[in-house]
Amino acid sequence: MIRVGLGRDLHRLIKGRRFLLGGVEIPAEKGELGHSDGDVLAHAVTDAVLGAAGFADIGVLFPPQDPAWKNADSMLLLRNAFGMAANAGWRLVNLDCVVCCEKPYLAPYREMIRGSLALALQVPPEAVFVKGKTGEGLGPIGEGKAVEAMAVCLLER
Ligand code: MG
Repeated sequence: MIRVGLGRDLHRLIKGRRFLLGGVEIPAEKGELGHSDGDVLAHAVTDAVLGAAGFADIGVLFPPQDPAWKNADSMLLLRNAFGMAANAGWRLVNLDCVVCCEKPYLAPYREMIRGSLALALQVPPEAVFVKGKTGEGLGPIGEGKAVEAMAVCLLER
């Protein structure tokens, strides 16, 4: 059986926070505000995996009100979520992602992000793709106030 999953997340960008995408820290003026470390891509991918497996979503498994997840490493949440899916017999066929932010330019970090996500999801980097898009200066993304991530994954068992 194969099943598709979709994830999407958005975080505010503010000064004094780290900018993390899929566990990779990227030099930037602003970083993601969040209860956890704010890694918007890790959150979108986690929801894609959980959705494909038919489990709860990230907010149910790791509630933002729970102090246990304050400043949590979001890649740890992703590994936990994928571990649940793997225990149920699922393996990842492929993952495709889009990250929308005005700055910085993400292409130089693409291979690192692919590698980081692939490691967490127990697949070769070729099974993971990540694209960066700007907001064309429009809306909160274009104004550099937010970063958004979308992810779609295919699981098989
Ligand atoms: Mg989030």
